[in-house]
Amino acid sequence: MKKVDCEEVKQGVHEYLHSELHEEELTVITAHLANCDSCEQHYDIEVIFNQVIQRSCDEAPAEELAERVMQRLRGIQEHD
Ligand SMILES: [Zn+2]
Repeated sequence: MKKVDCEEVKQGVHEYLHSELHEEELTVITAHLANCDSCEQHYDIEVIFNQVIQRSCDEAPAEELAERVMQRLRGIQEHD
C-alpha cells in the first residue's frame, strides 16, 4: 500500500470533504490516520467518517457505508 505523510493526509482529508477522492485514496488516508499519533491529534476519525457518511448519504445507505468503512479500517489495523 502506498504511504502518505501527514501533509498529504491533511490535503487528502480536505479534498475528500470538499470534492471526490477515490476509495483507494481514502483507504490510504484512513490507514495513516489510524496509525499516526500526530494526525490523531488533528483529526478525529469518527468525525471524519460522520462527515463522509453524511456527504454520501444520497448515494448509499449511511449504515451500509459506515459498515464498509469500519470493516476496512479494522482490516487495516489488524494487518498493521
Ligand atoms: Zn500523520
